[in-house]
Amino acid sequence: MTGGPWHGGTTRTVRPRFLGPYTFAHLPHTRELQDVDVAFLGVPFDTAAGFRTGGRFGPAAIRAASARLRPYHERLDIHPFETLNCVDYGDVEIVPGNAETSLARIGDAVAGVVAAGAVPAMLGGDHSCSLAHMRGVAAAKGPVALVQFDAHEDIADELMGHRYFHATWVRRAVEEGLIDVEHSIQVGLRGPTSSPTDRTIITSELGIEYVTVDDVFELGVRATGERIRRRLGDAPAFVSFDIDVLDPACAPGTGTPEIGGITTRDAQVLVRSLAGATIAGFDVMEVIPAYDHSDLTASAAAGIAYELLCVTGLGGRR
Ligand code: MN
Ligand code: MN
Repeated sequence: MTGGPWHGGTTRTVRPRFLGPYTFAHLPHTRELQDVDVAFLGVPFDTAAGFRTGGRFGPAAIRAASARLRPYHERLDIHPFETLNCVDYGDVEIVPGNAETSLARIGDAVAGVVAAGAVPAMLGGDHSCSLAHMRGVAAAKGPVALVQFDAHEDIADELMGHRYFHATWVRRAVEEGLIDVEHSIQVGLRGPTSSPTDRTIITSELGIEYVTVDDVFELGVRATGERIRRRLGDAPAFVSFDIDVLDPACAPGTGTPEIGGITTRDAQVLVRSLAGATIAGFDVMEVIPAYDHSDLTASAAAGIAYELLCVTGLGGRR
C-alpha cells in the first residue's frame, strides 16, 4: 500500500458532492494504472441473468450513490483513499447478449489491472461477471478463497442447455480451478430450492462451506463473522457481494429478490469481520436501478463497496 496523491470521498467543505461527472466516490477516471492500489471497474452486463434484466445500469447507479461517501471510516479507523491509491477505470466494453465475449473482455480488463499490481473492484452487472473477475485474478494469483454473500448458491450446471449464467458461475469457477475451495464460504443463502440436496451439494460436491440466513440469525451476526474469518484463515480472499443477500426491504433493486434476508447493517458487520484478511479482489453485483426505490439498493451497494475498500486497505500483502 503506497498511499498517495489521489483522493476520493470529496469533502463537502471543498466542493458540493453532487457535482459530476460521477465516478466511484469522485475518484479520477483513468486507465493509467501505475502505482494504483485499487481500480474500480464497471461491468454493465446483464443478459446472463435468468429473471429480471437491467443490471447494465447498475454501475452508473452505484457511482451516483457513491457521491456522498466521505473519506474516513471511524469504526475501522482508516482513510481508505489516503491509504490506497484508488481510481475509477470506467466500464468494460461488454457486448449485450453475448456472455462469452463479454466475460472474455472483463477477464482481460481484470488481468490488466492485476498485472499492474492493483486490486480489482467490480461494480455490476449480473453475477456471471464474477466468473470473469475470478479468472483475471486467479490467472496471476492462483486459486483464491471465495467469500460470497448471496441469497443464492449460483452452482447450477446448465440452464436450458447453456453453461454461462449468473446462476452457474460458481460451478464454472470451481471447474476452472479458480477457487481455493477449502477456505471458501457462501453466506446468506435462503429461499425455496428444487430439492433437499440443492444446498448440501455446495459442500458434498464442490467442497465449499455455506451458512444459510437461518444459520446467521441462530448464530448471531458477529459469530457468523468469526466463522467466515476462521474458514478464510490466511488465504487470500476474493469477496463477491451479490446485493440480493440483503432483504428486499433493504435492496429491492435486484434481479432475483428473496424475502427474509439480512439487513444492510448486518452486512456491514459481516464485511468488517474480514478486517485483517488479504483481499485479492472484490465486487458488488446484481444492482438493477429500475426496480429500486429511493436509491436504497444503489446506496447500499456503494456503502458495501466502501466497507470492502476499507477492509482491503487494512489487509495484508496482496
Ligand atoms: Mn443472488
Ligand atoms: Mn449471485
